[in-house]
Amino acid sequence: MLFQQTLWPKTSKYRKIFCVLLCKDIFVMRYLICIHFILLFPLLSGNAQNYTLVVHGGAGPISKVMPAEIQQQYIETLDSALAIGAAILEKGGTAIDAVENVIVYFENCPLYNAGKGAVFTWEGKNELDASIMDGSNLMAGAVAGVTRIKNPIRAARKVMEASPHVMLAGESANLFAGEQGLELVENTYFKTDKRWESFERQKSMFVKDKKGTVGCVALDKSGNLAAGTSTGGMHLKRWGRIGDSPIIGAGTYADNKTCAVSCTGHGEYFIRLCVARDIAARMEYKQIPLEDAATETIDKLTEIGGFGGIIAVDADGNPVMRFNTTGMFRGYVKSNGEKFIGMFE
Ligand code: ASP
Repeated sequence: MLFQQTLWPKTSKYRKIFCVLLCKDIFVMRYLICIHFILLFPLLSGNAQNYTLVVHGGAGPISKVMPAEIQQQYIETLDSALAIGAAILEKGGTAIDAVENVIVYFENCPLYNAGKGAVFTWEGKNELDASIMDGSNLMAGAVAGVTRIKNPIRAARKVMEASPHVMLAGESANLFAGEQGLELVENTYFKTDKRWESFERQKSMFVKDKKGTVGCVALDKSGNLAAGTSTGGMHLKRWGRIGDSPIIGAGTYADNKTCAVSCTGHGEYFIRLCVARDIAARMEYKQIPLEDAATETIDKLTEIGGFGGIIAVDADGNPVMRFNTTGMFRGYVKSNGEKFIGMFE
């Protein structure tokens, strides 16, 4: 304005023309800035609008001689789990909702060692463990050694959201779940004939080769990560044994800064190495990609004699699945339509 006043008197027609042009320019500039922000927003806010979901159904000595119809059942159920998670994420649902609902599906499916169909303790009971973690705020919840909660992963989420604690165990955890309105069942609900037959056979031979723990990790369209794991634990476990699955940092971990991880395998080794957190910490401290961090951790697990595997996803939606056993039931789906389901190496 000072420039205009000094150059042109208020009455000047040039001044009027200049003012009109200036106003137009400001309008055009504002318009262009808005368009730029709208177009650049997805880039500036990372991978908003992209999602990835990864699942596992346990790692172990999975044999290629498994009957074709059983293989088909695993493929179909892994596929359904991916579809359940993808439908939630596609609609803009949260990673934590996707993880919880996928794991509920697995817990209700007798094929897996989680919820109905879980393995038996030495005494012939079912004792279940589960955990969940929200990478957006590092909140976490877990239940251990529960015997009457139909869906332990739902109880883990209630611990996270409706209690001031991170982990509840045993009968008190059953009671907490009941108070929170979750469905309670008799312990016999979890028993399946197939699992009972193998319990009797394996108990007589002291065989401990059970696999079938389930897990899920997800990145949602808002860029939030979450992870969850649920299991009946190790076959023929005794004395109130708790594995890695309900332990935050060992069997489950999620942090938006790095990745979300769910583990499966010989829990005692995963606890000693804090496997899930170890992978995230390697990414954070060494500034290396998830793929390299997971390889380093699994190499270390192998070195100390542990077996099993992990699924993980990073903040850019890259899925990683690593295991040192002959197989791991696993799969992933991405928002670009990419999908994978596998069992063997
Ligand atoms: N990690 C589980 C546990 O040790 C078992 C498994 O994943 O197969 O309880």
